[in-house]
Amino acid sequence: MTTDRLIPHTNAEHDKQAHSAASPTPAALPRSRAVVIGGSMAGLLAANTLAAHYEEVVLLERDALPDHPANRPGTPQDRHPHRLQNLGKNILTELFPGWTDDLIAAGAYERGGKEMHFISPLGALNFPYEKDEGCSRPLLEWVIRCRVLEEPRIRLLQQREAASLLTETAGERLAVTGVRLKESRGSQGESPFDLEADLVVDASGRYSKLPAWLEQLGLGKPDKESLHARLAYSTRYYRISESLRDKYATVVIDGDPALS
Ligand SMILES: Cc1cc2nc3c(=O)[nH]c(=O)nc-3n(C[C@H](O)[C@H](O)[C@H](O)COP(=O)(O)OP(=O)(O)OC[C@H]3O[C@@H](n4cnc5c(N)ncnc54)[C@H](O)[C@@H]3O)c2cc1C
Repeated sequence: MTTDRLIPHTNAEHDKQAHSAASPTPAALPRSRAVVIGGSMAGLLAANTLAAHYEEVVLLERDALPDHPANRPGTPQDRHPHRLQNLGKNILTELFPGWTDDLIAAGAYERGGKEMHFISPLGALNFPYEKDEGCSRPLLEWVIRCRVLEEPRIRLLQQREAASLLTETAGERLAVTGVRLKESRGSQGESPFDLEADLVVDASGRYSKLPAWLEQLGLGKPDKESLHARLAYSTRYYRISESLRDKYATVVIDGDPALS
């Protein structure tokens, strides 16, 4: 089996770290590495949590991650408005104290003291905001990514795609022992290579190949639960007029429920 020694070198600083940290003595660190597939919100938070339990956590992302808050192909939903519910916000505050200050410093806007202006066919209402930050999803992910990658045990391997699981069979037991990686589109061509791990976490979102991988291993596809939300998004960006900028943080224009 090819091993971690084949992790290729690239220009990215975190890739360099992954190369040097993963190369020399994997055998000397039994049960020492977790691999997280997908470097978006779920992957970042999983890697952050696992860093308390593993010598090394490799965060694997098939995109080239931008070095500033920006849209990227792996998260096409990031062009649409996103808002964190309170539970998510509280969890982030617990994990990353002061992260909302980072958000504001990076360009988020403070909603506190402003209003939500709600217009419906039945009339208009204004709701005051308490302390709250508004930002794009790329900005949120960027701030959390910066915090997560401060942890030296977490190594980012970008432009690498999980192609399949590595497994070993002992008697009737089948164990996942790592991930086979291939270079992502747009990166320099290179042969697939293997990354051994004691734990593999799939956080690849809607693109997850895990059901197909499990099926290939003869384990069958897990049951899928779907909820048809019957909701469609279409997003367009406008410049806010100066006269409204300090008054309204959000304007919601509701359609006529009888017609929708
Ligand atoms: C229109 C829209 C609006 C939304 N609004 C909100 C909102 O207001 N608030 C909210 O909380 N949520 C919202 N969501 C949901 C939110 O965007 C998702 O729940 C969230 O992004 C899921 O994060 P994730 O990390 O699980 O997966 P994703 O964000 O889908 O990321 C998966 C990652 O895995 C990578 N990847 C995939 N396959 C591989 C592979 N084989 N190898 C390596 N990397 C791989 C991808 O490049 C990507 O980075 C919205 C979603 C949509 C579509």
